[in-house]
Amino acid sequence: MVHEKNRVLVIGGQFTGLFCGRDLKKHFHVTIVDCKEFFEYTPGILRCYVKPAHFDSLSFTLQPVIERSMGIKFIWGEVLKLDGDNLTADVLPIYSQNAQRTVDTISFDYCLICSGCNFNPFSPIGESLWFPTVHEANRPKSEWGHIDERFIEGRRRHILEEYHKIAGLAAKKSTIMIAGAGFIGVEWATELEYYFPDLKMTIIDFLPRCLGPLPDSAAEYCSEYMSAVGIKEFYKLKYEPKNPDFWKAVELPGEADFTYVCMGVKASNYFMPEETLSLKGPGGGGWIHFNQFLQVTKKPEGADDVGEVWGKGKCFAVGDCNYGCIGNPPKPVNVELFKYTESENQQKPLLNKLAETLSVQKLDKAEIEWQGLIVKDKSGKPLSADDLSKIPSDAFPVSACLNAPLADGPPRPAKFEAGWIMPPIPKISYPGEEQALHACNNVEIMDKKRGCHTKMLPTWWPWGAGMFATSLGPHDACFVVAANDQPKSGSMVNWWLPGALQKEIIETTKVNECKNGIVGICIWHFVHHTPINLFGRGPWKPHSKAFGI
Ligand SMILES: Cc1cc2nc3c(=O)[nH]c(=O)nc-3n(C[C@H](O)[C@H](O)[C@H](O)COP(=O)(O)OP(=O)(O)OC[C@H]3O[C@@H](n4cnc5c(N)ncnc54)[C@H](O)[C@@H]3O)c2cc1C
Repeated sequence: MVHEKNRVLVIGGQFTGLFCGRDLKKHFHVTIVDCKEFFEYTPGILRCYVKPAHFDSLSFTLQPVIERSMGIKFIWGEVLKLDGDNLTADVLPIYSQNAQRTVDTISFDYCLICSGCNFNPFSPIGESLWFPTVHEANRPKSEWGHIDERFIEGRRRHILEEYHKIAGLAAKKSTIMIAGAGFIGVEWATELEYYFPDLKMTIIDFLPRCLGPLPDSAAEYCSEYMSAVGIKEFYKLKYEPKNPDFWKAVELPGEADFTYVCMGVKASNYFMPEETLSLKGPGGGGWIHFNQFLQVTKKPEGADDVGEVWGKGKCFAVGDCNYGCIGNPPKPVNVELFKYTESENQQKPLLNKLAETLSVQKLDKAEIEWQGLIVKDKSGKPLSADDLSKIPSDAFPVSACLNAPLADGPPRPAKFEAGWIMPPIPKISYPGEEQALHACNNVEIMDKKRGCHTKMLPTWWPWGAGMFATSLGPHDACFVVAANDQPKSGSMVNWWLPGALQKEIIETTKVNECKNGIVGICIWHFVHHTPINLFGRGPWKPHSKAFGI
């Protein structure tokens, strides 16, 4: 019997969208839709503004790659609305300009939303140099609205314009303020300094040091570099451009000649219905809610961790566009220890219920640590897992969180707060691609193409979400691995020239992989399609499709 292939719509044709296209094309009719006609390697975009010729090495037009090389369908257009009841998408094709505006409605069996995000929460439309302005509603409000960045030529022109602006500022030996010393701010400050040494650079952050949550060793390394090249750093300082005291504090009493804001991300999921978008999150919310299987959900109700599945469970949100975490942050559980006098018989069912809530077999020290449970003693001091392990089992405190107040005991919280199901994942490409793999597997499982699994498989916090390469101009960089959701975690394992070389190799081979090049695919295929998983939080034998099966 001939099996009709089902149709998959992928929204976005960058890291995660192209990954989904490559993985699913064997078993599905795949269509990728993107607002812009080209791919650009976002992590390398900073270099283009100071060395415009670099753009050619990290961009390519999507149509020949997607249609001719990958053999799937490409639509150059913007998804304006996703309809979860009818499984359709309204797409504004590029040829449909204002005069004869037409919108096509495309139906699908599965949809993978890989539409990324914007990068400047201070701009009402999230506009920044790092991401082209491609959405129809935003273009009239754009600071560079005279250029159409949906075309590769438009993007090239914008890069050239900015380059000339920077060159003009350098010719006047201007002062530049970089607001935000995360990895983008540090990279941008050091690129500007390297290519335009006449600029007088200042970088600030409200945190006590650069590189946000990354380990001290990496922050110190970057700080040392910046200090050696004369970039002034100011920390524990809020960016308040309208406050003269702020400018005095950064030793620029007359204000900087130009400021680049390099702080945070902003959601751009305009095409999704309100009911699926978060009210909270970076840049004021608007991120797509999802569950452990990466299916789009409605907003969780009340104290629920996960919302009801949306779009018949057939729409998946992957990479930068999603909420990035599942569940709620851990909240302190107010437990007064040693006051409880339940007998062992009374405790057992409560502990079992707690274990059930946490989806674990048995509650022990490791699980308490992993689940992020915070237990406080009478004085309000949080107890560490070590403290907890010293408590005699007949006084084990967690039972107290689950039931009503004891007649002679203190009031107890009604609901046990266990914390994240999956803590926030950084918005970088590795975890996005890992999620793309997990979502593709679940699409295949739903479509019953994979014999070994009958139930969808949950995603996890991948170890590669802790890998960060921060460049410091073209000849220096530092590379961190094994960072996790805990601040300052991870280790710096490569730096200086070898670090810069590593970053360059990653860039060249990733662009090649996205172009469907054989070298890039050979290098990167097994990074995500790993046959076994020795690090991180996933299962040791992941659902990897390592050999395409
Ligand atoms: C300056 C900078 C440096 C970075 N450096 C690193 C780094 O060193 N390492 C790293 O891992 N990550 C880095 N990142 C992050 C990384 O670039 C992103 O995590 C990654 O690009 C996300 O991939 P994605 O496929 O989810 O989305 P994106 O790459 O954002 O792609 C989304 C695509 O969807 C399209 N789209 C959006 N809306 C619609 C719509 N309505 N209809 C149709 N198409 C739509 C867009 O045009 C776009 O092509 C950096 C980011 C920036 C800004």
